[in-house]
Formats: sequence, structure tokens, C-alpha cells
Amino acid sequence: MTATTLPRNPVTIQAEIDQLYPAFNNAQTAYRMATSDCLEENGICMRCRGKGTLLETHWEDGMGDIFRHYTPQIVKCTACDGRDDSAKVEELLADFHGEYERLYNEINALDNEAAISLRIEANPKGYRVRVTAKRAKVKHGTEGLCFWVGQTQYGFRVGFKTDAGETIWTDLDNVSPVWGA
Ligand SMILES: [Zn+2]
Repeated sequence: MTATTLPRNPVTIQAEIDQLYPAFNNAQTAYRMATSDCLEENGICMRCRGKGTLLETHWEDGMGDIFRHYTPQIVKCTACDGRDDSAKVEELLADFHGEYERLYNEINALDNEAAISLRIEANPKGYRVRVTAKRAKVKHGTEGLCFWVGQTQYGFRVGFKTDAGETIWTDLDNVSPVWGA
């Protein structure tokens, strides 16, 4: 297994997410402010954001007081009167939205990556593991490919095979996945 295929430490990934958050919050604020400024300056109302129509829900009496249901209904925006300016809105906000979306996607990808790493941490079968517990019976730092994870009468245990071919059995808590950079 080469270094490039190793999952990354969820702590490292979370630190990267934390670092992106201030820029993301700024981009989000800038986008929201630009939305109201641009739309107002261009005579497009915030109500429908240039789409001209709104989806509104109306309560309707069903069977007396027992059943009530509502029906979604498309109504024209009174301010825009059905004029569709959504293409213009997209054009006006492209720069702001681009940066906001880029950071959103970046954080989202890191979130997904962290979730995968956490799953590997909980069940490292098929991944390299290293003994990280100081008080484990197995020598600290011993590593190898995990081929088994399971629950026994002693709790969750792992089996892994060192590069020298030795098979090691230890508590799941004693090992950590070998994380990539
Ligand atoms: Zn409108």
C-alpha cells in the first residue's frame, strides 16, 4: 500500500475545515449582501429573486374541522409581475456566488473525507494499523495490515499482520489507523 492511498487523520481534516470557515463565512456574508444590493439596484425584488413567480401555500378547508390540508400554488410576484429576471440575477451574482460555492464545496468534500476516516478508525479492516497505546502488551509502534476486526468476550479486538509476517492480536483501542499526510 503506497502513501497516497492512506486515509488522512480526521483531526488533520477537521483543522483544515476550521481554517476555511472564516473565509467561508465572509464569502457567505458578501454573497448575501451582494444579493440584496444587486437586486435592489437592478429593480429586481428580493421576494422572488427575479424569477417572477412564487410558490405559495394556501390553507384549504377539507372536511370541516377534522381534516385540513394545504395546496401549493404558483402565484405571480406582484413586484415583478411575472417577469423572469433569474438569468440576470445569476449574472449579477456570479462572482460572489462562485467564491461562496467554491468554499462550500471544499468544506463539504473535507467533511465527507473526515466521515470516511472516522469509519476507518472505528473499523480499520483492510487498512494499515499501528499500536499507539503505551500500555499495550504489543510493542508500541508495531504496525501491519489489519485483516480482522470483531467483538469478543474481551471487547472489540483486531488482528493484523506485520510486514515481517507476524500475526498480532490486540484490543481495537490499542491501535490507530496509519494515516497519510
Ligand atoms: Zn418579484
